[in-house]
Amino acid sequence: MGIFDKLFGKKNDESESPKAKPEPRANTVSNSPHVDVRISCGSCNGYYKIREGKYGVFAGCSNYPTCKSTLNIPDFILKYIQNYGLNIYRWEKECYKCKKKTPVYSYYLDYDLADLDELFSLGGPTVGLGDLSYIDDLLSKQISTIQLRYSNTTKSKYMANICEHCGALQGRNYVVDDPHEIIGELWHDRDMGKYLYTNIKIKDITPLKMDIKQLYAQEE
Ligand SMILES: [Zn+2]
Ligand SMILES: [Zn+2]
Repeated sequence: MGIFDKLFGKKNDESESPKAKPEPRANTVSNSPHVDVRISCGSCNGYYKIREGKYGVFAGCSNYPTCKSTLNIPDFILKYIQNYGLNIYRWEKECYKCKKKTPVYSYYLDYDLADLDELFSLGGPTVGLGDLSYIDDLLSKQISTIQLRYSNTTKSKYMANICEHCGALQGRNYVVDDPHEIIGELWHDRDMGKYLYTNIKIKDITPLKMDIKQLYAQEE
């Protein structure tokens, strides 16, 4: 069982489905991670990296075994967001209904986390608009085409992009789960910066805790 089978066991099935992320290309690794994206150890001059232990996957200090400081994965990710903020990306897609180009917005936390540890690019949940309610609320207050919509399929409300021309819902499938049909090259070349819209600074990560813990919960 691989390291990410344990960390992200719930998502394993998706790797078999057509909507799974395409395999990273060979040149992906050389372009990431950015060496300066690191979470400093709280106890020494090391930094945290993903490790596998008896009780699952966690972030441990690079100076192990001298330093035994650890973080659980959700706290590791929360510290990343606290230090580096959350990138919001904006790109344009053709509205399926009116066929005009409309902007769509999302964060791609899984993409950003690959800067922190390339293991994040190998698996794990896709995290975008609709997953972090605190961020979704912030975005919907600033961007008029991000609105709360009701899904008949899941019988629940969720935040989504709508077409700026005709108001049609631009489904999560095309924006968050599988944006690769349009931006795939940039995704794999670690070149999504082209579509960077803004970076939201989040000093107090408390409102994100519950969502991050649920998304990155390890199976018992
Ligand atoms: Zn340390
Ligand atoms: Zn439209």
